[in-house]
Amino acid sequence: MSYIEAKELSVGYEGEVVASHINFKIDEGNYLCIVGENGSGKSTLMKTLLRLQKPLAGEIRFGEAGQTKEIGYLPQQTVVQKDFPASVQEIVISGFQKKSGFRPFYNKEEKKQAEENMRRMGILEFKNRCYRDLSGGQQQRVLLARALCAAGDILLLDEPVSGLDPKVTADMYDLIESLNKEGITIIMVSHDIGAAIRYASHILHIGESIFFGTKEEYIESPEGKYFLARQHKAEEAEENIIEAAETEVIENQNTKN
Ligand code: ADP
Repeated sequence: MSYIEAKELSVGYEGEVVASHINFKIDEGNYLCIVGENGSGKSTLMKTLLRLQKPLAGEIRFGEAGQTKEIGYLPQQTVVQKDFPASVQEIVISGFQKKSGFRPFYNKEEKKQAEENMRRMGILEFKNRCYRDLSGGQQQRVLLARALCAAGDILLLDEPVSGLDPKVTADMYDLIESLNKEGITIIMVSHDIGAAIRYASHILHIGESIFFGTKEEYIESPEGKYFLARQHKAEEAEENIIEAAETEVIENQNTKN
């Protein structure tokens, strides 16, 4: 049986369906990217996968033979989190809280694993530094190390590169890819279709119609073709805006001179 399987799943709020007829299967070592327009229900599905919300219809099955898998979660960063006044080590090890109940101390094995996850994420040297003094990319690595402490072997990442510059974004994607190659199953919500096509093994597209399949099948599907073309157009429009702004700056300078 698959790690996670959704059958005719509907997600939403108090009887209001946001997305329905969702069917997908995630097997060990898969890299699933959940894509779709803003407001299509990606975060709502995420909350349902984390069992913070009940499905409105259908079902989700977790684990093999009904065994529940722990999911490590990397939430979207909020302004409040960026200013969190705790040390890197404290934040990483707090990933064990869900497993051990809310107690302020951790056992030897947990401390060792937290240290190992900080090493994996290349942040061991910052372990005593205050989280809020780190750069955006370093903060994401801290949250990823924390999610690894919480994870059995599934990581759920909600827009993990939002707000990061292109170089740090590429590093973050590489890091996630290396975790996947180590055998960790990845579920990532992203509006970055380029990254989805590059890194994912499977795509779940949520919107007016729902698509689930391998990345290769997605590229050939009507949903994939439409979404890729739209993204391409949006990027072109953005480039034109930047070009026009650059021309304006140069013209302004020339008039001043
Ligand atoms: P996405 O993550 O794809 O941008 P969301 O899952 O955040 O989409 O939102 C899907 C829809 O659910 C939106 O129309 C949104 O307004 C609505 N929604 C989100 N959160 C709530 C909530 N707590 N209560 C009621 N409706 C909500």
